[in-house]
Amino acid sequence: MIKNNFDFKAIEKKWADFWEKEKIYKFDVKSKSKVFSVDTPPPTVSGEMHIGHACSYSQQDFLVRYKRMKGFNVFYPFGTDDNGLPTERLVEKKRNIISKEMSREKFIKFCMNFLKEELPSFRQNWKNIGISCDWDILYSTIDEHSRRIAQWSFLDLYKKGRMERRDAPAMYCPECRTGIAQVEVEDKEIPSTFVDVKLDVDGKDLIISTTRPELFPASVAVFYHPDDKRYKSLKGKKAKIPLFNIEVPILEDKRADPEKGTGIAYCATFGDQTDMEWQKAYNLEIKEAIGHDGKMTSLAGKYEGLGVKEARKKIISDLKEGDFLVGEKDIVHSVNVHERCGTEIEFVKSKQWFLKYLDLKNDMLKWGAELNWYPKFMKVRYDNWVKGLQWDWLVSNQRHFGVSFPVWYCEDCGEVIVANEKDLPVDPLNDKPPVKQCPKCKSKKIVPEKDVLNTWFTSSMTPQIVTQLMPKDVQKKIFPMSLRPQAHDIISFWLFNTVVKSEFHFKKNPWKDVVISGFVTLKGEKMSKSKGNVIRPQEVIDKYGADAIRFWASSSKLGKDFDYQEKDVVDGKKFITKLINASKFVFMNLEDYDGKNVKKLEKIDELFLGELNSVIKSATDSFEKYEYSKARSEVENFFWKMFCDNYLEIVKKRIYNEKGNKKKSAQYTLYKSLLFILKMMAPIMPFITEEIYQKHFRKTEKDKSIHISRWPEINKVKSKKTLNLMLEVISKVRQEKTKAGKPMNSEIVLTIENREKLKDVLEDLKDVTNSKGIKEGKFGVEFV
Ligand SMILES: [Zn+2]
Ligand SMILES: [Zn+2]
Repeated sequence: MIKNNFDFKAIEKKWADFWEKEKIYKFDVKSKSKVFSVDTPPPTVSGEMHIGHACSYSQQDFLVRYKRMKGFNVFYPFGTDDNGLPTERLVEKKRNIISKEMSREKFIKFCMNFLKEELPSFRQNWKNIGISCDWDILYSTIDEHSRRIAQWSFLDLYKKGRMERRDAPAMYCPECRTGIAQVEVEDKEIPSTFVDVKLDVDGKDLIISTTRPELFPASVAVFYHPDDKRYKSLKGKKAKIPLFNIEVPILEDKRADPEKGTGIAYCATFGDQTDMEWQKAYNLEIKEAIGHDGKMTSLAGKYEGLGVKEARKKIISDLKEGDFLVGEKDIVHSVNVHERCGTEIEFVKSKQWFLKYLDLKNDMLKWGAELNWYPKFMKVRYDNWVKGLQWDWLVSNQRHFGVSFPVWYCEDCGEVIVANEKDLPVDPLNDKPPVKQCPKCKSKKIVPEKDVLNTWFTSSMTPQIVTQLMPKDVQKKIFPMSLRPQAHDIISFWLFNTVVKSEFHFKKNPWKDVVISGFVTLKGEKMSKSKGNVIRPQEVIDKYGADAIRFWASSSKLGKDFDYQEKDVVDGKKFITKLINASKFVFMNLEDYDGKNVKKLEKIDELFLGELNSVIKSATDSFEKYEYSKARSEVENFFWKMFCDNYLEIVKKRIYNEKGNKKKSAQYTLYKSLLFILKMMAPIMPFITEEIYQKHFRKTEKDKSIHISRWPEINKVKSKKTLNLMLEVISKVRQEKTKAGKPMNSEIVLTIENREKLKDVLEDLKDVTNSKGIKEGKFGVEFV
């Protein structure tokens, strides 16, 4: 346990206030510098920040801070994603209201008021870990500005012929009672029962195996594979479905799998994807057994009104009773569920809006390939998603809260009437349509679209939402944006949809680079409240400070899932303590130093600065490739081993005892190297580096904050041979002293083999090893 020898809480507060007051991270609309623009992920306001956020936002902040120090005019806004279900639920809970009991407009007002009150404390979480956003550039995905842009997106796509309203079976969540998009579906292993049921064909039994007997009332055909000899004789006959007295044709089709169950499959129009293909291919009747409420329809007879699972149970038991059941087997199988609630999805025929894009799969792959992916392997996830796309994007949700469609319909002829662009945002439930009568049939019965746009339809517009917060002439400097940072779990949601929208609207990618961060686990397991293995970032910050948690976040590479380890945070804390102590030592010896350049550097100082220079070079190269963890470990290593363990020891005596140029050369070297080390650590540890900078360097350096000072320049790298040789000798002397049980400051006479090669640094070598003299010969240490 390290002793708390400085008050990091006070330091963090002091500098956070200073940055905000002095607007250190402000995007300068007047600046002529090149812009680096960031499409910051908008978190959902749902209480407090979790450790995954602390990690991924820290990682993106390292990169942004580096770019700022490289002289870019950084555009780094902050937004929150508030138009989805989580916010609706939170507002309902906190305000004790029910959204459906009030108008959409009124509920949005409730939300905006709620956000106004809650956002400052929510944002504070992000400020606490030192995120360097421009806190004056803010948005919420439900505010008027975002709603206008989302609706504009709809109108533009509609005009381009990409929005289609279809009355067709679509994926539907009976729990959330809304149509859902392919991206919102995930696989889940769940237990189920395979039942073998007798169908009747001309008085003979035909056995069918199914997990979904509740869809029997919607059955329209029975299939077997054309090569399946067992059933050849049944061709053209009819099968009778038990309990429901339905007769269906027996047909041949290659999609029937002879290996599955008995090789007989039945088609209920919306059972699954294959069922729908069969319906189309054989022009079968359309029957809906499950309604929009997720309950059995009147088609199900006495089972009408039951939920799907309930109906299944009842039907199985009735099949048993009627002696139609010949077998029953419990299985675990993979089914499609709604990712939000885990409910098995159904296919329900309904009117839904789709963004038509399946025809563009090749273009989508090309767009993905044009992005710079960090790390590169994450692109595979994008490609796999595109290749697996089977549905156009369903964007209408049958929900109350969200951004409304700017759409009305003619009740008589169904004509779609869209809002005028100048009127956006509109809520058709409250606002009048742009025309008094239907332009097609002259009917005056015009009705509003009640559905809302899917959340991702709006959040896929974040590049436009943030860009359009800026003056017109600045917008073209911001978009296309420089960087999209995000976690890997929403590549198919947020990243993909944003690319699609940008290409449709502007025929270009929304950003140049994408950086993808990984997940944080605990002992290899995903953290979750139910498992009780959640680490709260604020607790870690309270114990070790924000810089220490950022230090931990910098220990993993981009895109890698990694474990939360308290010892990494402790290492960060140790580093801070060492940084403070080293700075104290340096500035104790710089009291008479004027900050000016020295006329001539002592050889060892020159060599040491050369070594520092090569660290600057590799840290810069790493940051340019967004490899912050490599950059950090190089600087960290240099600081501990080179600067503290060696250089400080080497120059101690010279600083204490010498005067004139010899001393000044050491002072200059100490000043520069500490400053450069601080600058290179500033993106990772913004608080402590600012503290040391302000305390010691501010009077001689002109920049108001270390975070807007320039990243160290690289000089030509010189030979490192002499320095390495010298360090080797020092290390050997230390070993000899340890072996002999003598203290490090015990006086010796030193013999070395390379005296000639070290002639420029002999005085320093004498000082650091405490040698009375250095002789040429076989290496040896003689105690005097
Ligand atoms: Zn659901
Ligand atoms: Zn009409």
